[in-house]
Amino acid sequence: MPPSNNNRQKNQNRGDPRMKKCEFCTKEIAYIDYKDYPSMKPFIDYFGNIRARYYSGVCLKHQKMLRLAVERARFLGFLAYRK
Ligand SMILES: [Zn+2]
Repeated sequence: MPPSNNNRQKNQNRGDPRMKKCEFCTKEIAYIDYKDYPSMKPFIDYFGNIRARYYSGVCLKHQKMLRLAVERARFLGFLAYRK
């Protein structure tokens, strides 16, 4: 018996970054603090850019909050604009 279509589809979807859930939503965070570096760190890459939602899985609401927090932190010197 050949493998069913259901199994093949499951394998194709494995590791799709879009399937991730928003980390801030799962922790029920209402506000991202610009002074809280550890909470922002996973969403910033080596060069100091904010990771795209496609890769981090953050929802639109929290991505906007994250952007504001990172921009404030950069302005105050907590984060680098560019490494
Ligand atoms: Zn969210």
